[in-house]
Amino acid sequence: TASPAVAALIEEVAAERLQAHVEALALIDPALGSVPGNMRSRFTVHPEIVESIEYIRSQLAAALGDRAVKLHSFPIDSWRVTSHTARRGNPEHVPTDTTAYNVIGTLPGTDPAAGYYIICAHYDATGVRSAGGWDWQRDPAPGADDNASGVALVLESARLLAGQQFPWSIRFIAWSGEELGLLGSQAYADLAAERDDNILGVLNFDMIGFNDLQQRLELVTNPGSQWLANEMVAAAERYGIGLAIDVFEDPGSRISDHAPFWRQGYDAIVGIENHLPADPTTYGVREGVYRVNSQYHTVVDLPDSLNWELVRRTTQLAVATLAQYGLGEGMPNLAVFTGDLLGDRADDLRVRVSNIGLGAVASSFSVQVSQCALDSSRCEVIHREQAPEGLTPGASAELHIPWQRFGEMVFLIEVDAEGQVNEVSETDNRVFQRLRLVPQSKIAVFPNPFRIGNGSVLRFSGVPLKSSVQVFGPAGDLVWKAIEDDDAQRRLGTVANEVLWYGVNHTNIPVGNGVYIYAIHSPEGTLLMRDKIAVVR
Ligand SMILES: [Zn+2]
Repeated sequence: TASPAVAALIEEVAAERLQAHVEALALIDPALGSVPGNMRSRFTVHPEIVESIEYIRSQLAAALGDRAVKLHSFPIDSWRVTSHTARRGNPEHVPTDTTAYNVIGTLPGTDPAAGYYIICAHYDATGVRSAGGWDWQRDPAPGADDNASGVALVLESARLLAGQQFPWSIRFIAWSGEELGLLGSQAYADLAAERDDNILGVLNFDMIGFNDLQQRLELVTNPGSQWLANEMVAAAERYGIGLAIDVFEDPGSRISDHAPFWRQGYDAIVGIENHLPADPTTYGVREGVYRVNSQYHTVVDLPDSLNWELVRRTTQLAVATLAQYGLGEGMPNLAVFTGDLLGDRADDLRVRVSNIGLGAVASSFSVQVSQCALDSSRCEVIHREQAPEGLTPGASAELHIPWQRFGEMVFLIEVDAEGQVNEVSETDNRVFQRLRLVPQSKIAVFPNPFRIGNGSVLRFSGVPLKSSVQVFGPAGDLVWKAIEDDDAQRRLGTVANEVLWYGVNHTNIPVGNGVYIYAIHSPEGTLLMRDKIAVVR
């Protein structure tokens, strides 16, 4: 059902603001309009692009606060520019290696562990398809449709969503280097994967304003990201946005900044007026609902050729898609994502299940993990359990799975496979994930059993630097403690990564017979190993 709060929020999307953003990004003086000499360049390595960076930064800062906006830098090799411009045979100026910047604004969620969504668009532009050639240093690249239109959506979405509170965070990102090979989004997606960022979904927009025949948007998706397209189609219908949406599944699509996220296993879509804008054979052109965009990537990609109502409705779609779970009567939404299955330090598995919806999961829910062949076929259940607790909005639960096999493996993770929980969407309840599991601990404790007397010693070998070793008695009381390389251990003449115990308590009295427990913790407090030792006198 539609939430009145979301309906009211998307009514605030203003076509005049969207137009003002596009004009500020495409024109030097918006008051003069699309006249010669008044067009900007936002080509990635053109010096003038810094003015557009500052415009985007200041607009995001106005919405989200100064400290919520950061620049993310990445390198541009000069050959990228040479090969891009040489296609049109006009590389008059030889570029040097340089740096480009993504502009990132963050709206923090109430639960830092809940991950984040991205709403994004590239702000760099090119004029390389211009009739008569194009000199990147001399000629403008106003890029009104491609892609000041998408950036306007990002800025307006930030303004409207900034006043709301969600369990998950939202990052509003303007990419650079897209026209030179998706460089900004690639640098970010690689970094996110390295940091193991929990990205819930990426809504990327690229060229959303040229179509004057119909209020219409195409969504390009891959199988794993289909649920995002479903959410968007549902939002468009629920809030009567009046946008015809065509969904294309094309896992090989590299037309925009969604592709680097797919490569890293994140879910992403691109919203675009027509997925191959200048191709006369596409569905949109054949059906007479789209006109071939012969202006994009030229010096005449100008604001006065845009359909502002289309940009407005597409922006409403982006805002409604995320706000529909954050406002009003939200429903719960259990989700597992690639990356939610973790190799534990004790060589076991942990699986994280999140509630990315706004309603609470009231009852318990089931979690099932299967091991599959490397081609994701022939899955066999290795673990099934009923998670006892429900989940509040934005919260996640972590379940422990005993598992002692190592190597390259593919797992299938499924939550609520029986459909017991009534959710906003069931499409994110199952995911495949590849894991390479290696034993994390090489700690050896010997001899076991440990016979005290005649100077016999128990060795904890392979203990990381400054780790603590504790020994607990049969009653659970702490009887002895040492830290790798502490003074007492040094006096015993221990070698590196070794801790010795002579079977005494902290007052140097030999302990009695029984089963003792030892625990080894890293200096940061992570439990590395915990096991039993039999002490015999
Ligand atoms: Zn583009």
